[in-house]
Amino acid sequence: MAMARVRQKRTTPEECVASLLREIGVAYRRNVRSLPGSPDFANRRRKWVVQVHGCFWHQHTCARGSMPSHNGELWRAKFERNKERDVQAESALSGLGLRVLTVWECETKDRGRLAEKLTAHVL
Ligand SMILES: [Zn+2]
Repeated sequence: MAMARVRQKRTTPEECVASLLREIGVAYRRNVRSLPGSPDFANRRRKWVVQVHGCFWHQHTCARGSMPSHNGELWRAKFERNKERDVQAESALSGLGLRVLTVWECETKDRGRLAEKLTAHVL
């Protein structure tokens, strides 16, 4: 029984957020394609959206978000596009009256703190 639970426990940042939302006890949908930017988690009735961003791909200002030194220009162009998409999606979501919370991958390391942040956002 204990073994099965260990095996089932997934550790991606998205799974961490999903399990916290379940603990909080709030309903949500995942990968909502009908909303701008297909947010990772959303509850339209309660008017919130949660985006989970990988620190590398979305160039977070933490250690994981550092620019690769090789092929710098190619990466820069790719990261700029990602960032632009993030900004556009966020403003479109806000325009629909949805509150947007961005959870960074590195924040999922501190589960307790993230739980507080999510609770404040979704309740
Ligand atoms: Zn980060």
